[in-house]
Amino acid sequence: MTTDNYELETLAVRAGTHRSQFGEHSEAMFLTSSFVSGSAAEAAAKFIAADPGYIYSRFTNPTVTMFEERLAALEGAEQCVATASGMSAILATCMGLLKAGDHVIASRSLFGATINLFNNYLRKFGIEVTFVSGTDVREWESAVQGNTKLFFLETPSNPLTEISDIAAIAALAKSCQDRPLLAVDNCFCSPILQKPLELGADIVIHSATKYLDGQGRVLGGAVLGSKELMAPVFGFLRTAGPTLSPFNAWVILKGMETLKLRMEAHSANALAIAQWLEQQPAVARVLYPGLPSHPQHKLAMLQQKTGGGIVAFEVKGGKDAAWRVIDNTKLLSITANLGDTKTTITHPATTTHARIAPAARAAAGITDSLIRIGVGLEAVSDIQADLARGLS
Ligand SMILES: *Cc1c(COP(=O)(O)O)cnc(C)c1O
Repeated sequence: MTTDNYELETLAVRAGTHRSQFGEHSEAMFLTSSFVSGSAAEAAAKFIAADPGYIYSRFTNPTVTMFEERLAALEGAEQCVATASGMSAILATCMGLLKAGDHVIASRSLFGATINLFNNYLRKFGIEVTFVSGTDVREWESAVQGNTKLFFLETPSNPLTEISDIAAIAALAKSCQDRPLLAVDNCFCSPILQKPLELGADIVIHSATKYLDGQGRVLGGAVLGSKELMAPVFGFLRTAGPTLSPFNAWVILKGMETLKLRMEAHSANALAIAQWLEQQPAVARVLYPGLPSHPQHKLAMLQQKTGGGIVAFEVKGGKDAAWRVIDNTKLLSITANLGDTKTTITHPATTTHARIAPAARAAAGITDSLIRIGVGLEAVSDIQADLARGLS
């Protein structure tokens, strides 16, 4: 299917679908580790071909290809390579595109495992990383060195929903002599709310575990960009093996069909919850990009279609008060996951960000009073009632 002129909701349902000889209407799940050839000559030809078709599911698999083509259509990318998880998407990007002696500039407000990957593993292989404020382009500019090869950011950030100006940071990358690449982790928005490639990014990264699947069933990830950039990323994946399983690809494909509906519903619920939280006397501060009180509300509304589904808020009374809110919920799930139909609630300081040194955590603005909710698709009134118990 040519994808050029279709709207996002059409692409979410239709893009990437390939039918087998049986003419099945929905996407088939190809649970096979390898593919047979008709003859020795055909097998030999496949192994040296530029576009070899299907050989082995560590390389490619038809169900995985359907997922890749659908996500590529949604993000407006030339190519997508699927990975086993969001973290393996970030690893594959670094392994494919960086080498010892290279320098990375990354936003300080990144997913915890991404920070650990950069600090504990990239450094071990001689790749230097400088962390800067995601919201201050001047810090990115002053951190640039002759060997800077990659800019890496996530927006809105986790858990504070800070907004990085993708277009401004992309313009900076393009103005540098040795042209670093800009990679954006688009997990919080999905292509329904934000299209980083259109804003000038070179690479988009996804944890498909979150909104793309959207129902908390499987892990998956993806890296998207030009064919030229994706070739070494795919080369690493095919060799090292953190590729997406066809079963997970099938589950995520099915999830993506409702992506637009879900993102709209998550956003509407999150806005209603954020507005309500702002009125609660026990709440000190609400951070939600869709609220006019958010420090970067204007930029967020230029860059994203809505504020998204993640709300962070601080309660009055520190850790005890925050834990009281969490422990008084009966409906919400106490789990660090997000991007699920079921609302999740977490205390970042003692869970997702517990391994970060207290000083670094404080510098990142993650206080003991902070709670993050991944707003799901339950009725707003039920979510409010569940939170109200611990806030009263
Ligand atoms: C969850 C998450 C990841 C990691 O994804 P996994 O699928 O858990 O490996 C990366 N970035 C962000 C923003 C995330 O929320």
